[in-house]
Amino acid sequence: MNIILLGPPGAGKGTQASRLVESRGMVQLSTGDMLRAAVKAQTPIGLKAKAVMEAGELVSDEIVSGIIGEALDGLGAGTGVIFDGYPRTEAQAHSLDAILADRGRTLDHVIELDVDEDALVERITGRFTCASCGEGYHDSFKQPKVEGECDKCHGHEFKRRPDDNEETVRTRMAEYRAKTAPILPIYEARGIVSRVDGMADMDDVTAAIAAILDSSKS
Ligand code: ADP
Ligand code: AMP
Repeated sequence: MNIILLGPPGAGKGTQASRLVESRGMVQLSTGDMLRAAVKAQTPIGLKAKAVMEAGELVSDEIVSGIIGEALDGLGAGTGVIFDGYPRTEAQAHSLDAILADRGRTLDHVIELDVDEDALVERITGRFTCASCGEGYHDSFKQPKVEGECDKCHGHEFKRRPDDNEETVRTRMAEYRAKTAPILPIYEARGIVSRVDGMADMDDVTAAIAAILDSSKS
């Protein structure tokens, strides 16, 4: 099964994708994570992407579609994929069609996380992750069970993204509204879009997504 999690920054895509990885053995392909790794490793792609990401703007379609194609080539044919943060433009949506077709894959679901934009600034500015395993946390909504210790790997170092500040968040939301939301009709025309209330509790969002995925099992 191949699915897209769609929603503005802070909607909960990464949170829900990592739950699907654990519960269903799917693979999460997050272009944001891959680009951050490239920036950290100072690869040619990372060097090109760094300033664009810091400004909250979109990296070029060619770069992100290239890294998605390469990532898919590293996966077994039967591995289910969750696209998180990709596609983000109409050109990327068309590239994804070609990338999937070339590899004999089909797109089963586009799950849109429906959220209230005003709440997203709080979600994003309170977000932090474990520096070792990447588990996601939030200052108000999901603190580690033991203060200062990751629930998952028991690491003690946490980090915050440089682009998770209010000013950049506003740019990222504007980019979402202008370039990403308009791709929904492409998938609506195929009858594969489901909407989930992304403002609900994390566990309720997880359950709603599970119900959608299970409804299509034969
Ligand atoms: P995205 O990947 O869409 O940018 P994240 O999954 O990183 O968003 O979520 C952003 C922040 O909001 C994280 O700190 C996460 O812990 C928190 N969060 C995610 N889903 C919910 C939810 N349903 N309710 C409250 N907080 C949430
Ligand atoms: P994310 O982790 O999804 O919030 O992405 C962080 C940043 O990486 C974005 O603000 C963009 O600068 C860049 N980025 C991630 N995915 C894409 C994409 N599909 N297209 C263009 N830019 C992207």
